[in-house]
Amino acid sequence: MYLILNYNAHKKKQEKYEQAQEKQDIELKANQTIRVKMSKTGEIVAMDINDYLRGVIPAEMPPSYNMEALKAQAVVARTYTYRKIQDRAEGPDADICDNFNHCQAFYTKDKLFEIWRGRGFSEDTIKEYWDKVAQAVNETQGVVITYKGEYIKAYFHASSPEKTEDVSQIWGGQRIDYLVSVESKEFEDYQWRNSTVELSYGDFEQKVVQNVNSRYRINNRGDSPVICINSYTISGRIKDVKIGNDIVSAEKMRTIFGLRSTNFVLKCENNKVIFNVIGYGHGIGMSQVGANYYASQNMSYKDIIKHYYTGVDVIKIN
Ligand SMILES: [Zn+2]
Repeated sequence: MYLILNYNAHKKKQEKYEQAQEKQDIELKANQTIRVKMSKTGEIVAMDINDYLRGVIPAEMPPSYNMEALKAQAVVARTYTYRKIQDRAEGPDADICDNFNHCQAFYTKDKLFEIWRGRGFSEDTIKEYWDKVAQAVNETQGVVITYKGEYIKAYFHASSPEKTEDVSQIWGGQRIDYLVSVESKEFEDYQWRNSTVELSYGDFEQKVVQNVNSRYRINNRGDSPVICINSYTISGRIKDVKIGNDIVSAEKMRTIFGLRSTNFVLKCENNKVIFNVIGYGHGIGMSQVGANYYASQNMSYKDIIKHYYTGVDVIKIN
């Protein structure tokens, strides 16, 4: 869900590997064995891609979601993994890791069951969820997303009501044909469709001092801070904000103030800076809440994928 907080670090690492050795044209199979690095212990565990995916899907998407949404997530996660292998993004010893900041979240079956029990799910519900995840993986065996014959960079996020984002608007501005802004119809009652972050002027000032400009001060006690939207992205999200004389990217605003997305309106009211935030995540590629909505309207997982990734092919490998 929070794939690319660490995108730049990851990109640098990837470039290093591409320089160090030629990208290998590895032929990947539907029952590929992959090496998963456990980030806590550093241990590397080899497993079948399908076993791996059964531990990824419920870590990244609520297993209560509709089956076609879970299948879409399975295909996205498989594609994401194969692309990582081809890019050698995890280095020479492993193919992928279980850190959601770097790769994808992954839990073992035991750990998942423990988490679900901790949430108070009944044993029947736990069995039902595990069976759903297994079905989503089994019924999409070997299915991957390609563009011009290459595995796509299958980014996804939790929710972007109305529209997804164009990748060229963030992470350095590189355009990718299949990661453009598309409509995203979503459930109105999703819990993070709207969220609010409020700070007193004093707290706001302190955060700006710590993260943006050490000399930043709000003029007088009781004055509202000088803050305004500087520019918008193609999809209408915030691109950057002006605070005093400093331009701050919306991605940085997200980190500093803990905003769920860069789609927000801000106002100063009652001695508070208030961010009203829409959706959750970076907004690139497939929206999970959107996928679940389209699945509820009887759209197939293939059509959901083709909706969110413009112009791609959904193919099956052996
Ligand atoms: Zn990783």
